Amino acid sequence: MAKQDYYEILGLSKGASSAEIKKAYRKQALKYHPDKNPDDKEAEEKFKLAAEAYEVLSDPDKKARYDQFGHQAFEGAGGFGGGGMNMDDIFSQFGDIFGGAFGGGGFSGFGGQQRQRVVKGSNLRIRVKLTLEEIANGVEKKVKVKRKKQAKGTTYKTCSTCNGSGQVTRITNTILGRMQTSTPCNVCGGAGQAIDKKPAGADAQGLIVEEETVSIKIPAGVVDGMQLKVSGKGNEAPGNGISGDLLVAILEENHPTLQREGDNLHYDLYISYPDAVLGTSKEIDTVTGKVRIKVEAGVQSGKILRLRGKGIPSINGYGKGDLLVHVNVWTPKTLNKQQKEFFESMKEDEHFEPKPESSDRSFFEKVKDMFS
Ligand SMILES: [Zn+2]
Repeated sequence: MAKQDYYEILGLSKGASSAEIKKAYRKQALKYHPDKNPDDKEAEEKFKLAAEAYEVLSDPDKKARYDQFGHQAFEGAGGFGGGGMNMDDIFSQFGDIFGGAFGGGGFSGFGGQQRQRVVKGSNLRIRVKLTLEEIANGVEKKVKVKRKKQAKGTTYKTCSTCNGSGQVTRITNTILGRMQTSTPCNVCGGAGQAIDKKPAGADAQGLIVEEETVSIKIPAGVVDGMQLKVSGKGNEAPGNGISGDLLVAILEENHPTLQREGDNLHYDLYISYPDAVLGTSKEIDTVTGKVRIKVEAGVQSGKILRLRGKGIPSINGYGKGDLLVHVNVWTPKTLNKQQKEFFESMKEDEHFEPKPESSDRSFFEKVKDMFS
């Protein structure tokens, strides 16, 4: 089933402001909150969808990618997921949007059961340099990442400040009346657990930095500056916490002979006067290796030969760009006496006077399909 549009989920139109997005999400989250809709699977599904939509649209980076690529922006060839939030992610998101009124741990004020906060490790960021060939064909990269991991031999005990609940509760007066609010315990960070014993070298949270080789599947068609997410490959969290993510920024290396423009590629082909007059065949670079192309006799400088499908695959998975070969007739800057006489003699011949046809003048007419 096709994934529903994030703006549609929140009842918004594209171009909604961040204030409108926040307001729309608040409305949906309050309406479909599990504490208000016990055992209602449909409400729970709507609640999760709204949270997922908000997670993307409230983040300027993610929103920009979603606006450009739609759901595909987060789906790649594997390992990258924008969606799939669990309830703990959603409740921790509440802390930001609903302020202190409901705490980070859920709707205890509405009588729901207390939820222990799941501590998430921090994200790691790396950059990966890719050649145009790697971008065109997709690639699996192995990178060494220094991650914080739970040190072996670390043991945990129940946090004595919050008695393992992860929450510190208090009563406050709000516009909705007296409410029991809870905030994460600042001794254990909301995990409900504290370090009992830790081995030498581990930090205060029982974590130790280790180098790990992570395999990253990069789908074909990625764009310079794009960010991919490898879930769970960031820093580990202490105790029962979940790992952060590894965020991979794409850097595109310049290619020696090919220039990228969206999904199309451009190649400058230089040919000599004799080759332009007599015709020739030339080997050129493509992202899948060299190919030989035919240049017809009488080709004009500036002609563009189109090699259909020899460009970059679309990141959305639909089709491929083309390779546009720009023909440049190379003019020598110096001539010896004999060569000079040769060209002087041609000057006298009316046959060499330019007589451009309409097809030589129009830029669009110059784009000739090589395979048609
Ligand atoms: Zn605690």
